[in-house]
Amino acid sequence: MTRRKQAAPDKITAPAKVGLAKASLTEAAPAKAALVKPLTARATTPEPVDAATLAEIFARLSAANPEPRSDLDYLNPYTLLVAVVLSAQATDKSVNIATAPLFAKADNPAAMLALGEETVRHHIRTIGLFNTKAKNVVALSRILIEEHGGAVPREREHLEVLPGVGKKTASVVLNVAFGEPTIAVDTHIFRVSNRVPLAPGSTTDKVQAGLEAIVPEPYRLNAHHWLILHGRYVCKARKPECWRCPIADLCRYPDKTPGPG
Ligand code: SF4
Repeated sequence: MTRRKQAAPDKITAPAKVGLAKASLTEAAPAKAALVKPLTARATTPEPVDAATLAEIFARLSAANPEPRSDLDYLNPYTLLVAVVLSAQATDKSVNIATAPLFAKADNPAAMLALGEETVRHHIRTIGLFNTKAKNVVALSRILIEEHGGAVPREREHLEVLPGVGKKTASVVLNVAFGEPTIAVDTHIFRVSNRVPLAPGSTTDKVQAGLEAIVPEPYRLNAHHWLILHGRYVCKARKPECWRCPIADLCRYPDKTPGPG
């Protein structure tokens, strides 16, 4: 059966020119800043950290948060899948507010289908792109029932063809629900990996492939969480809080933020 699939909005691509790299790594940096920044401002792009430093970075992130977990609330693999689909271009907090009453009514595909698109849309109306997302949640629930016996498949190829599910969403589900050592690269991980740098790359796919190739085995399962949380709460987009960063002495980012005062 041929299925038309809604593109998942989870692709992040950095501009190719070195002179514009800073704008992408600081996300919403005004276009003007990129224009006034001379192309020679960054004399050299730092080399990625070596294997021993990489291991030390993960040892520290692990020590600070031995059992990291997703900021998204979920009850089972199905609600995790729905929550991740809803989180594209939305904050986890806004998704959790919307999904608490939604999942109380529907925590499985059959119940979600019974609720119907209109009711799902009403529940998630505070989240960006809610019209498309409501359609996708209902459509993917129908496919799970018709093709997977109502269960979330454990195979990447089956996940990635679901409406609203892209490579990143599939990686998160495989990692969090099924314990696979995938490293789903979102905007936070993309930024951290390029700043330190861990596995620099101009696209999320390149960064993901780079990270999955180099992160030491004992840290692979939770690397996704550690990097995401580090990017969200410390290595922030506009102003990284380098003065309180546990890996500041290992990080090679040339524009570290000095401590306040
Ligand atoms: S030192 Fe600064 S730029 Fe480097 S990882 Fe820490 S917060 Fe990010």
